[in-house]
Order: sequence, then C-alpha cells, then structure tokens
Amino acid sequence: MLKIQRLSKTFTTAGGEQFKALDKIDLEIPAGSFTVVIGGNGSGKSTLLNLIAGNLKCDEGKIILNNREIQKWPDYKRARFLSRIFQDPTAGTAPDLKIVENFRLAAIRAKRKGLGIGIDREFREQVRRALKKLDLGLENKIDQQVEQLSGGQRQAITLLMASWENPEILLMDEPTAALDPKSARLVMELADEIIRRNNITAFLVTHQMHEAKRFGDRLIQLERGKIVRDIGSERKKELDPLDMMKWFQQGFSI
Ligand code: ADP
Ligand code: MG
Repeated sequence: MLKIQRLSKTFTTAGGEQFKALDKIDLEIPAGSFTVVIGGNGSGKSTLLNLIAGNLKCDEGKIILNNREIQKWPDYKRARFLSRIFQDPTAGTAPDLKIVENFRLAAIRAKRKGLGIGIDREFREQVRRALKKLDLGLENKIDQQVEQLSGGQRQAITLLMASWENPEILLMDEPTAALDPKSARLVMELADEIIRRNNITAFLVTHQMHEAKRFGDRLIQLERGKIVRDIGSERKKELDPLDMMKWFQQGFSI
C-alpha cells in the first residue's frame, strides 16, 4: 500500500510569488493498482510523480510505502523499488551505449552491485529474450548503439529496462507523448502487460483520452494542485468519452 498524506509543494515563481503546485493531496493506492493521472498543463501531475520519485522534496505531508516513510531515503535505496519513464524518448537510455550495455545499467541501478553484473552469455540471452517479445527485431541488434534507434524503439527499451528488476512502483509521465500512434500503442500495451504480470503499482500521466479510458483501474484528475475527480475501476469502465471530453477541454487530445 502506498499512502500519500497531505502532500504539498509550493514553488516560488520568477516574480517572487508563491505557487502551490500540489495542495494537501491525500491518496491511498493499493499494491498492484494502476492509476491514471490527468489534468491540464500546470495542474501538478509531474510534481506529484517527482515527489513520489524523490526528485523533489515536499514542503508538507508524507509518502508512506508499506508503512515506511520513503522521502528521506537515499536515491540508491529508492531506485531498488522505483522506476520511471519520461516523455522524452531520449531521456531513459544512454545514447552512446549499446542496447545490451543499457540493460546492464538498469540491472546495476536496481541491485546496486556495480561490479557484480557482467555482460556474460546468460545476460545477453536474457536481454535477447526480453527484446524478442517486442517484435521489433531488436533481439538481433543488442550490440547496436542506442542512438541509432527510433523514439518508439527507445521508449520500448526504456520500459523494459524500467521493469528489469521488477520494481514495486512504476511512474510514467506522458511516456507516449513524443511517439507516433503505432509506437505509442506498442509501448502502452507493453507497459500494461508488464504492470499486470508483475503486479506493479503504476502511475500514468497522460493527455490522451483513449489511454486514460483504456488503461488503469483508477483515474484521478488534478486541477491547481488538488484532486478534483477520483474514479475507481467499476465506474471507470463505464466512462462516457463525451463526459471525458467535457472534463478536458484544455490540454487533452482525443
Ligand atoms: P503538469 O505536469 O501537470 O503540467 P507540473 O507539476 O509540472 O504540472 O507543474 C505544476 C506547476 O508548478 C506549474 O505551474 C509549474 O510552472 C510549477 N513548477 C513546476 N516545477 C517548478 C519548478 N521547479 N520551479 C518553479 N515552478 C515549478
Ligand atoms: Mg507534466
């Protein structure tokens, strides 16, 4: 169970004004559930994910995972149970490293055994097997430099890397925003499959209505740092796209 209690974050703008990006958010997320986060630009979606990831420190409130407060944990400790994917397909992989070397980095990050994980035959085979499932022909290119791949291929690899050591939490911040529709679908189907198979607690920030409708068990909407809508799995299935359209006349593409 992930509990978020009265979580707040205020930024000081360039003009010296205080801006509440998150305003006393309360959330209880059962283990293995998949939460979709929607809301207009600047509503606080990335701030919420950044706080959970530990990239930002909160001003007030708590983030409790399985009865432990995680905000004060050092990065390496957090990296063992938490992975994330950003909007930018180039952000999740090291461009001048080979595919297989990127996977090695992912394994190191999760285990923190820097020297203990080599790229031996078994590791190469493991990477090949994982890539084969993508059906993009990448299993034959594991010695290719990542910068030669397309955005969709890189995002798919980022996702496989993010789930390499079976994280407890997966944070996805508009992971398909920079992809063409076909790659976007592939990446989201893969994400959904990995999340379900490994019972990962997942968050997806999206501006795509079809993704918000199709994926996840729960939908929350943020507006000016507050949760203004919270829809559970039963009601989510029955959502009417027309209703959803009304909620998101801004910053939400169909
Ligand atoms: P969203 O992801 O929903 O578009 P964000 O969470 O990124 O929104 O940002 C929420 C608000 O906080 C925005 O108004 C943004 O300008 C502001 N903000 C975010 N990060 C910073 C920062 N590092 N410094 C100052 N203001 C920030
Ligand atoms: Mg954002």
